[in-house]
Amino acid sequence: MKKKNITLLGSTGSIGTQALNIISESNRYEIFALTCNQRIDEIVEQALIFKPKLVVVYDESYYEALKGKLAHTTIKVACGMSGLIEAVTHSDVDIVLTSVVGNIGLEPTIAAIKAGKTIALANKETLVTAGELIMPLAKQYGSTILPVDSEHSAIFQCLNGENHKTLDKIYLTASGGAFRNYTQDEIKHKKAVEALKHPNWSMGQKITIDSATLMNKGLEFIEAKWLFDVQPSQIEVLVHPQSIIHSMVQFRDHSIMAQLGVPDMRVPIIYALDYPDRFDNSVKPLDFQTLTALTFEKPDYKRFPCLRIAMDALKSGGIMPTIMNAANEVLVAAYLKDRIGFYDISEGIEKALSHFNNIQNPSIDDILSSDIETRRFVRQLCE
Ligand code: NAD
Ligand code: MG
Repeated sequence: MKKKNITLLGSTGSIGTQALNIISESNRYEIFALTCNQRIDEIVEQALIFKPKLVVVYDESYYEALKGKLAHTTIKVACGMSGLIEAVTHSDVDIVLTSVVGNIGLEPTIAAIKAGKTIALANKETLVTAGELIMPLAKQYGSTILPVDSEHSAIFQCLNGENHKTLDKIYLTASGGAFRNYTQDEIKHKKAVEALKHPNWSMGQKITIDSATLMNKGLEFIEAKWLFDVQPSQIEVLVHPQSIIHSMVQFRDHSIMAQLGVPDMRVPIIYALDYPDRFDNSVKPLDFQTLTALTFEKPDYKRFPCLRIAMDALKSGGIMPTIMNAANEVLVAAYLKDRIGFYDISEGIEKALSHFNNIQNPSIDDILSSDIETRRFVRQLCE
């Protein structure tokens, strides 16, 4: 079997390190490139183990230091956006795992699609801001997009081999995040340290805050719309605190398919990399004997306004999801530094959404410039 050549965009993050962990269990892969933003000590450690052809640091001020640390090897070192683009478009690359966080993933993902690569898509911000352009682009260039997000992997698996026309509805499940059981008054005073204590999943900081605000489910709602080509009215968010059912699909005949498993991202990551095959791995299987209950609740839009904001931004379309996403990125970063409160996140996003005029059918340039303008506006708001 020919080994698959993989580029990991964001190899030092939560998804990136879990991917390397599960990849190291098999000999089915070759790592072509590893990339990070600034954490060069970690990426050097990874490079010495996985021996990629290329290592990229996005922040150019770390370039010389990284080069020095890898000088005794034959590994090529690059930096900046041009480095990321080289890592995803090289002719040796088969699959690109997009595990960077934020809208920074957009440009390299587009480049990888245009190079006809298979995309294992973890970076949800890409489809949130540019789903309307990305999906047809992938079709045009014959690039396959395989979802890594656990919910979308579940939906993808439930739809495998089915006639898309018989799809009636998607049940998008949500853990409910760290503050599911608190009142609005209690949540109001919660700091980032508490929001970072996710009940079921261990993830990067940004997505863990997004889970606490339910913005993560809002982003996934938009992501599902584009990935599975459904109407927003066909997607229902269900809070399922145990995170065992990763999502479900209901067909026209009201038969429902669900995908279940332990909450471990290594399963959807390796599924996307091995697709359409499946192999043994060391992830512990679900033990039904120890499961006490699988429960479901309606999401509470009052305590968690971000979910409704995202659903409305999708309805408005155009540039609104980009503004929402950019505002959210800046506000979550400020919340992580204790500079703003929990509900300043949703309020700040709403201010940004009403400040800018919508642009229908935006180009990639419109999206990139709106992203920059929104960030500038929201940074001022935070000061
Ligand atoms: P993380 O913060 O742990 O890691 C982010 C990675 O991106 C790091 O390798 C970092 O070096 C890189 N990065 C950050 N900023 C960058 C920049 N400006 N330029 C280049 N590289 C940059 O994030 P994560 O939790 O691994 O999440 C990654 C993506 O996957 C996010 O879009 C997230 O929503 C999605 N996702 C994550 C999980 C999870 O379990 N962690 C689950 C589903 C989806
Ligand atoms: Mg998810």
